[in-house]
Amino acid sequence: MTSDETRGDDPGMREIELLREEAEAALAGAGSSADLEEARVNLLGRKGRLTALLQGIKDLPPDKKRMVGMQANLLKDWLEKALEERGEELRRRELDAELRAEKVDVTLPGRHLPFGTRHLVSAIIEEIEDIFIGMGYRVAEGPEVELDYYNFEALNTPHWHPSKSLQDTFYVDASASGREDVLLRTHTSPVQIRVMEATTPPLYVIAPGKAYRHDVPDATHSPMFHQVEGLAVDEGITLGDLKGTLEHFARRMFGEDRAVRFRPHFFPFTEPSAEVDVSCVICGGEGCRVCKGTGWLEILGAGMVDPNVFGYVGYDTEKFSGFAFGMGVERIAMLKYGIPDIRYLFDNDLRFLAQF
Ligand SMILES: [Zn+2]
Repeated sequence: MTSDETRGDDPGMREIELLREEAEAALAGAGSSADLEEARVNLLGRKGRLTALLQGIKDLPPDKKRMVGMQANLLKDWLEKALEERGEELRRRELDAELRAEKVDVTLPGRHLPFGTRHLVSAIIEEIEDIFIGMGYRVAEGPEVELDYYNFEALNTPHWHPSKSLQDTFYVDASASGREDVLLRTHTSPVQIRVMEATTPPLYVIAPGKAYRHDVPDATHSPMFHQVEGLAVDEGITLGDLKGTLEHFARRMFGEDRAVRFRPHFFPFTEPSAEVDVSCVICGGEGCRVCKGTGWLEILGAGMVDPNVFGYVGYDTEKFSGFAFGMGVERIAMLKYGIPDIRYLFDNDLRFLAQF
């Protein structure tokens, strides 16, 4: 002990010196905020070494107390400040690293998200709409759950008509609706009645949408299908206007070189009525399997609106005349692309659908 005193090497002062050296090394060596916190606990924590030294000062002899106490407190002040500065530096460095890791490189090629394609039925509806909008028509929509009045009666379909039978039409549960005349519309024609009720002529409108019939699915039938119906009402509309309009449509849809023909037919709400054919898109009229050897494909039904129908909506039949037409969207798609079975359109097989 005497040798310590002779060298002036006070054990308390020596301890402070050692702690300072260790603290400097720990601060410099701390690679992260977590390392630094560990160093802080070792020195200044409740059981830290500098804490212990400070607590021991009160037991020193009076002549040492002052000097050791002062040096230990200076060390403590320095250490606290150094910890704070070094902590700041490490936090900044960690934040930088984090930001660098999250940086978006805008020069990298984008991640490829495959686009879907429109369903062929939607695409055909839009194509039909475009052709008629080009001729000044507007697009109207109506409810798919419809009243008997709009679906049949106002379209001049008498109560005994076979298309009203339970075998052909989906009636909505009478016990749920409280009435027996609610059904899934069997065509989009009721939209025409609703539009006529709400509008006065001149009127040029098409109504695309879903229709429902009590059909067993097969190659050409589906219980749900799409129709586009059209209606023109104005002063002096003639069968010639009907013919010109539908010929223009048929050639825009199936090709400018198509021949178009009108065959007499019967519909309850038009008189006279016709079915419209285009020359076969596959064989060009020579006769093939698709056109069943006739050279013609039936694309739609049409006719001059029966004056009785105008009577239901209060149009002046002396002043106004008009024509109406209707087509099955799936049928148009099948004829245009030579699709042999309507069920392909509803099977959701992407290998099929992605072709269009
Ligand atoms: Zn053919």
